[in-house]
Amino acid sequence: MTQIKIRNLTFKYPDSKSLVLDNINLDIKASSWTAIIGHNGSGKSTLARLIDGLLMPTSGLIEVDGMKVDENTLGIIHQQIGFVFQNPENQFVGATVADDVAFGLENRQISRLEMEDRINSALAMVGMTKYKNVEPINLSGGQKQRVALAGVLALMPKIIILDEATSMLDPRARQEILTLLKKLKKEYNLSIISITHDLNEIELADKIVVINDAKIAKQGSPAEILGDKELLLKIGVGIPASQQLQSLLVERGVTIPQKYLSLEELKNWLSQQLQ
Ligand code: ADP
Repeated sequence: MTQIKIRNLTFKYPDSKSLVLDNINLDIKASSWTAIIGHNGSGKSTLARLIDGLLMPTSGLIEVDGMKVDENTLGIIHQQIGFVFQNPENQFVGATVADDVAFGLENRQISRLEMEDRINSALAMVGMTKYKNVEPINLSGGQKQRVALAGVLALMPKIIILDEATSMLDPRARQEILTLLKKLKKEYNLSIISITHDLNEIELADKIVVINDAKIAKQGSPAEILGDKELLLKIGVGIPASQQLQSLLVERGVTIPQKYLSLEELKNWLSQQLQ
């Protein structure tokens, strides 16, 4: 089922010389993982802000669950969509981890008791229960992003937008948070939209959308996009390890399947050949 429908969307900031987004058409399915990739400044964050109604289109239409995003639906849209940003430091407002998770709940007419419940379960979901009364300043980068994620989960959204949310983390913390997101997505039927340059994160997507020069340059499955080396190089995303390995094997005269294989698929294929 289409959860987010975008039609003929254009956008321009009051002071921008040209269109920041030019005739964007996109469907995002419920419970899917979508990666949005492209050069810095290509309009990815702007698109995410438009979906959440933080900005309004210059022209065109955005619908979330069949509801047009506009001034009248903003309250409902904000309940459905949670944002996790790049820098966890900028997301902290509370004196303790629990206060911080509580912050988003405060203006929502939720009873003290339910609030306590939601804080506890959100912290449990991200594995941060024992840090409940800790000051956020004493947490590692990965732990801070978990708390930021708990703050979003406490609001029980249907869609989570990650705007470069793992880019400031070390590789281990990044992998841990991706594993956690994969698990939460499955358990709670969440839709995830991730704006990212990280290949490991891109590979998790069901659909990848490439934005270049304000337009969608290409959208498709990981196989369709990650197999397109020319495109990846053009937008400054590296070549996936599996593709590099495939190229090396071809150079050495090994005949490999003529299609994109993820690292996992390539490993399986190689082990079959070696049997
Ligand atoms: P990305 O997320 O792909 O890096 P952005 O959506 O942040 O790209 O930015 C797209 C373009 O819009 C860039 O040229 C950027 O400079 C410009 N831009 C972003 N935010 C604003 C703003 N608040 N006012 C004016 N121009 C902006």
